[in-house]
Amino acid sequence: MDLGIRGKKGLVCAASKGLGRACAEALAEAGVDLVVNARGAEALEATAQEIAARHGVAVTPVAADITTGEGRAAVLEALGGQADILVNNAGGPPPGTWTDWSREDFIKAIDANMLTAIALMQALVPGMMERGWGRVVNITSQSVRSPIAVLGLSNTARAGLTGFVAGMSRQVAPHGVVVNNLLPGIHATDRAVSLDSGVAKAEGIGLDEARRRREATIPTRSYGRPEDFGAACAFLCSQQARFMVGQNILLDGGALNVSV
Ligand code: NAP
Repeated sequence: MDLGIRGKKGLVCAASKGLGRACAEALAEAGVDLVVNARGAEALEATAQEIAARHGVAVTPVAADITTGEGRAAVLEALGGQADILVNNAGGPPPGTWTDWSREDFIKAIDANMLTAIALMQALVPGMMERGWGRVVNITSQSVRSPIAVLGLSNTARAGLTGFVAGMSRQVAPHGVVVNNLLPGIHATDRAVSLDSGVAKAEGIGLDEARRRREATIPTRSYGRPEDFGAACAFLCSQQARFMVGQNILLDGGALNVSV
């Protein structure tokens, strides 16, 4: 399927590896010129070069912490202040227990997984509205639908972003801007290895056994593949997604038993 977005300009945040990288790959395959971001310069440069070489699009790496004002300013400068497509992403907060988290922990999580995405939408969506076309995908989590107790910091921040998008996406839709959230269940990335390592340690089992036990809880009996996640993201950025507004789309292999 031709997604109809060849020649558009996009920003993918937190994209040197994992789900962000997969979104960047899929958008590049559709012909989108990209600015990609992550903190670690070396891995980011290599990712940008690989994607550009494979798909023949321009890929500009900006090594910066996207959760800081300076980081966002650097990324926006590389874009010349405008983009047609925005994929919001950042690392997830650490697990823990509800009694452990301080005000500072909450502020950090809310900054990373709520306010950063909102700031980038506030910076880039007005230009999309003026030009009459735009697409935004916020990578959130299945925990928005079914909160995971040990990920309370993530639950809190992502619930706030979800509420914001529910209102804002309807306000910008008349101007041709489509905003949606993509909710990953467990996917085979470094984040999954780190979550499984935590389980392995807590349960006194090996990493493989922790993964096997988690896979057994998923109807597909396997972890999601980043490339499939990226393809879903690219579709949400396509011309054909014009009628999908303000949705929270779950990619979890059927793990959550939700009827709507
Ligand atoms: P990942 O494989 O660990 O990759 C994270 C990427 O984000 C890396 O490129 C990392 O590069 C970059 N990054 C992290 N913090 C950043 C920051 N402050 N500024 C800029 N770049 C940053 O993680 P993932 O699995 O792709 O997860 C992506 C998001 O989806 C996370 O929020 C995660 O919580 C959520 N999620 C993932 C899963 C899953 O199963 N994978 C499930 C539910 C939700 P640097 O470290 O070099 O910055």
